[in-house]
Amino acid sequence: MTTIDRNKPILVTGGTGYLASWIVKQLLDQGFHVNTTIRNKSNQQKYQHLLNIEKESKGTLSIYEADLLLDHSFQEAMNGCELVIHTASPFKISGIKNADKELVQPALQGTRNVLFSANDTNSVKRVVLTSSIVAMIGDACDVKELNNGVFNEKSWNTTSSVSHQPYPYSKTMAEKEAWKIAEKQNRWDLVVINPGFILGPSLSQRSDSTSIELMIQLFSGKFKTGAPAGDHAIVDVRDVAHAHILAGLIATANGRHLAAAHQKDFLSISNVIRKQYPNYPVPQKYVPKWLFQLIAPFMGVSRKYVKCNVGYDFVFDNSYIKKDLKMSFISFEKTITDHFTQLVEDGLIPDLRS
Ligand code: NAP
Repeated sequence: MTTIDRNKPILVTGGTGYLASWIVKQLLDQGFHVNTTIRNKSNQQKYQHLLNIEKESKGTLSIYEADLLLDHSFQEAMNGCELVIHTASPFKISGIKNADKELVQPALQGTRNVLFSANDTNSVKRVVLTSSIVAMIGDACDVKELNNGVFNEKSWNTTSSVSHQPYPYSKTMAEKEAWKIAEKQNRWDLVVINPGFILGPSLSQRSDSTSIELMIQLFSGKFKTGAPAGDHAIVDVRDVAHAHILAGLIATANGRHLAAAHQKDFLSISNVIRKQYPNYPVPQKYVPKWLFQLIAPFMGVSRKYVKCNVGYDFVFDNSYIKKDLKMSFISFEKTITDHFTQLVEDGLIPDLRS
């Protein structure tokens, strides 16, 4: 049981991010004092949306500079906090040149850095870590190794490496390290959220966040000739943010939490938009796997990735998060429609609605 004093500041790392911005907003709307970290304070454009949100909210916001790769850089932002929500970590699935440098080291060193600061900060009682569903399962084809093809909090990714699926590898290594560090002390407890593929409206006009980039590509016609088959475990960004806050504030919250709501593929996402706005160049059929495998390297993904991931459906079990955090989820249609509307209204995709 860990009771958090609601008058103390809460640290959210990486406030400029797609997910972290929603965590910061929901905390500010509830009147909390939020400390957040960003990489470069002089780039105000990247966090102006947070300052605007603060003005409209009941809470207060303090911004600190910190980098995952700089030892002790989260210390100042953590002082006086009982709850730390560690979300910052690079999320990249294509265009990676040096996976160790771009993904694994920031995820792993960053987790060490934040958790060692938690060890050094007497006020800290709980750390909520953003891991991922990919720390539970690496490739979709791995599901055949699981009991009845269903995966849950007991599952760990055992197949990713620096050279194959480096992002899932970075998240697996970081989460394992977090559990190791947490087990070596007993002042603070660790609660982990493992989100599926996060979609839903962004609070900033940023387009370089992977979830946003993929939706821009889908609605702009990149997959017009066909979408890859195979389900994703989709969840709304607002629900994932809410899950982090519940994981921080519910005294009995415990362990890993698979945060995914809908098992859907890219064609299902496209269909939600095509039904409302037929002018959008979204795919209407699946691209054959052999063709996708052929063109994969030109799209920034490996042939092995396509072989192990396209065309596989899997079943996830999200019963634990519903019980432990009393979560319910936003509908798939609302997530997709709200995300699409934000992209149009922010000018990130053309407005072909009329
Ligand atoms: P995002 O928008 O790209 O946010 C990533 C955040 O990490 C940004 O604030 C970024 O800062 C920060 N960051 C990256 N490298 C850093 C470094 N060296 N030092 C300090 N900060 C650094 O991605 P997101 O989707 O919100 O992801 C947030 C978290 O959710 C990550 O832990 C990700 O693995 C996890 N997750 C995401 C999804 C998804 O589908 N989106 C699914 C499961 C889990 P800058 O703004 O300076 O780049």
